[in-house]
Amino acid sequence: DHVKPKRALLSVSDKTGLNNLAAALAAHGIELISTGGTAAAIAAAGLAVRDVSDITGFPEIMDGRVKTLHPGVHGGLLSIRDDDQHRKVMEENGILDIDIAIINLYPFEAVRAAGGDYPTTVENIDIGGPAMIRAAAKNHAYVTVVTDPSDYQALIEELESANGALTYEFRKHMAAKAYGRTAAYDAAISNWFAGELDIETPRHRALAGSLRDVMRYGENPHQSAGFYVTGEARPGVATATQHQGKQLSYNNINDTDAAFELVGEFSPEAGPACAIIKHANPCGVGTAEDLGDAYRKALACDPVSAFGGIVAFNAPLDAKTAEEVVKIFTEVIIAPDASQEALQILSAKKNLRLLTTGGLPDPRASGLTAKTVAGGLLVQSRDKGVIDDLELKIVTERVPSEGELRDLKFAFRVAKHVKSNAIVYAKDGATVGIGAGQMSRVDSARIAARKARDAAQTMGLNEPLTKGSAVASDAFFPFADGLLSAIEAGATSVIQPGGSMRDDEVIRAANDAGIAMVLTGMRHFRH
Ligand code: 5GP
Repeated sequence: DHVKPKRALLSVSDKTGLNNLAAALAAHGIELISTGGTAAAIAAAGLAVRDVSDITGFPEIMDGRVKTLHPGVHGGLLSIRDDDQHRKVMEENGILDIDIAIINLYPFEAVRAAGGDYPTTVENIDIGGPAMIRAAAKNHAYVTVVTDPSDYQALIEELESANGALTYEFRKHMAAKAYGRTAAYDAAISNWFAGELDIETPRHRALAGSLRDVMRYGENPHQSAGFYVTGEARPGVATATQHQGKQLSYNNINDTDAAFELVGEFSPEAGPACAIIKHANPCGVGTAEDLGDAYRKALACDPVSAFGGIVAFNAPLDAKTAEEVVKIFTEVIIAPDASQEALQILSAKKNLRLLTTGGLPDPRASGLTAKTVAGGLLVQSRDKGVIDDLELKIVTERVPSEGELRDLKFAFRVAKHVKSNAIVYAKDGATVGIGAGQMSRVDSARIAARKARDAAQTMGLNEPLTKGSAVASDAFFPFADGLLSAIEAGATSVIQPGGSMRDDEVIRAANDAGIAMVLTGMRHFRH
């Protein structure tokens, strides 16, 4: 199981920690072989190093496009050490065993992040590096591959602890990591191409992530979890700066994303907006002239559920609003920015996590969403439908007033971010009742109305705020019953996609009740 390595090949673009590692390898009597720049760096540190051209009998050609793509290298990485045939062919061709491969790739991702031009980007697609990584990882029964400078120390410690040998367990672990690296690398290249061609290539882009964080557990304590980032420049939970508090959990990240994507629908030019999220559903969304008022309006929708929630803002957090938010227990706050005073106020709450993003996500941006199913992966383009871009059709005798129309649009914007079946009642720029995730639309309408009654009671109001509200449905009403339930709750206007076989019946019910109905022609299922 233990292999005592005799020879290492080092070929790295990122030269972090290289000399230290090379010295440790040399100290264990391991011969060093290296490519041009890497060899120069090692030699400059005063260590003996053999040039790879010495092994291949071939110079590095075409500006480095071909340097290690040679049987002398790949034979040395891939040979089965105790196979007689393999040994024989190596002897005949003078191929040497390579027991350790230290390789990191041309910095394709960094070149992209820096906005490199087309030829520079293409030149930074590493060919020989991934080939060696994959070869060494395949042969992990004998060969150790290290692709991440942060693993050098572990390699050095392994060598020390087993007196210059390496364990199978370590080799296998590093091999798994190596394939993760080449997969992410190719995914980054594929993503870049997709962007260049302005095409969505779900197949390629879906799993283009690199591991950023391992969480203590997943959705439940008996599940493991990791957070993979795609490198997309979208402001949000993956790119945010965390100012305080412990590590975000799996559910925190999921909910924080839902919260911030929702407030991203509200352009700051139109005024402050706040969303409070629990279990990936909003329990309140508010808009107002003032950020603190937006928060209060969001909170009023369902103050009981808001406890321990995630709060998102579409504008920089100010001190007054921060003071409001700390009054109840909140898990996470996410906002484009926060004032120094706000930071100061929040710092007193050790368990509260604050994230700032530097901007808002564009709700119209292209992108993909993915979800696993048994044995497969469902990938789709993100729902970038925005109500402002839709042609609205008034289908009732009564036309919505200006205020009603504003609330209808607001409610539909929110409904897009509520799990289906979604029913959202809104009034004066705030949600007043939200029904989420029910199997029947009429149940969602009833639950939303009941929650509005509960909220009214909590706040000591005589009647629920659904009286005179606007109501949105994320998909059409298949029957009139859902609409009738909303009318019963006091809604005076309704917005929905339309397109049901029974639209006529639904519109008739609206006319009979004297309410206004608007069709959007776009559905917003969300599961
Ligand atoms: P160096 O700085 O040593 O000159 O080059 C190291 C880089 O070259 C590493 O990132 C390694 O992955 C890459 N590399 C090694 N062999 C080849 C090859 O045959 N072709 C290409 N394109 N890159 C290689």
